[in-house]
Amino acid sequence: LERDAIFRKEHNIHVSGSNIPSPLHSFAELRSRYKCRLYLLRNLTELGFKEPTPIQRQAIPVLLSGRECFACAPTGSGKTFTFVFPILVKLKHTSKDGVRAVILSPTKELAAQTTRECRKLAKGKKFYIRSMTKQLAKSNDFSKLRCDVLISTPLRLQFAIRKGKLDLSRVEFLVLDESDKLFEAGMLEQVDFVVKACSNPSILRSLFSATLPDIVEDRARTIMHDAVRVIIGRKNS
Ligand code: ADP
Ligand code: MG
Repeated sequence: LERDAIFRKEHNIHVSGSNIPSPLHSFAELRSRYKCRLYLLRNLTELGFKEPTPIQRQAIPVLLSGRECFACAPTGSGKTFTFVFPILVKLKHTSKDGVRAVILSPTKELAAQTTRECRKLAKGKKFYIRSMTKQLAKSNDFSKLRCDVLISTPLRLQFAIRKGKLDLSRVEFLVLDESDKLFEAGMLEQVDFVVKACSNPSILRSLFSATLPDIVEDRARTIMHDAVRVIIGRKNS
């Protein structure tokens, strides 16, 4: 659509892929287009978010349309809510089916921060959102623990899976946050291990990063199929 192209240009949004959904003009469109629950819109208002950031305008509709997404936007541009929001919309409510969404973070500190952000957005709704602590990774009874969204470093997740107590075969959403860091030499193997463990054939994967080194492009192509690529601003800026 011509109108979408003009709007994207105004917001410095670059896209590639087939059948890309229209960017968001406002948060209110989340309700009219995607029937997003009111509690989520209320939480956005409470957080003081008036307008979506450029990455949110384009990548949220991509993910809500059930498309895989490969997103690159500068640090501080609101990438966390870009992937947390569609997860909460799509999960709808808590379930006893085990872990349904996994967010991989390169550091424990980022995992803890993402957990806090996720809980802020989910406020008022009963979801079990957990950070994989050292204690939790060692625990033997993951199957008895309620968990809708699990946020972890690749190492802790690999450790828990290897113990045979964590089943990720029902995961519907897998996010690789700061994927430029996740794909650095020391973590690449652990990331691949987790990607394989999330064996649900209808899983929706997404990659987020602030820079686009070749390794990210390469891994994005091997990990995802028919992904929509969303880049804000200039490459590597
Ligand atoms: P990134 O992951 O892209 O580096 P973050 O997701 O950490 O950025 O977001 C940076 C800051 O912007 C956070 O404090 C977050 O609460 C805030 N933020 C996110 N989306 C919006 C929005 N639409 N309007 C205002 N502030 C926002
Ligand atoms: Mg971030």
